[in-house]
Amino acid sequence: MDDLMNVRTIQLNSGSIVIVWSDGHRSIFSPRDLRLRCPCAQCVDEMTGAIKLNSGSVSIGIEPVDSIPVGNYAVQFLWSDTHYTGIYTHQFLRTLCPCEICDSDIGNDS
Ligand SMILES: [Zn+2]
Ligand SMILES: [Zn+2]
Repeated sequence: MDDLMNVRTIQLNSGSIVIVWSDGHRSIFSPRDLRLRCPCAQCVDEMTGAIKLNSGSVSIGIEPVDSIPVGNYAVQFLWSDTHYTGIYTHQFLRTLCPCEICDSDIGNDS
């Protein structure tokens, strides 16, 4: 079942990031939303998990420049603001999927 969380393809566009999963699900992310959820130590307090990144500092027009696979469990994005330290696990990305199906599926994640 771990297979369900694997990224099959990532397509970087100027206004969207499209991820197709190994179960055939398709996630369409706003680049800025993903940038704002960057899980790296500069953007998130490692102790508390609180987001330190000031959303005002991330440009509306931010774009993904590149994506690099990390092992077979995560993806590292390079953003047009030159930030690249965030490693997004597939599982994390899937929980961020903004589609209606996943939105209604959050359930007990409180
Ligand atoms: Zn970051
Ligand atoms: Zn979804």
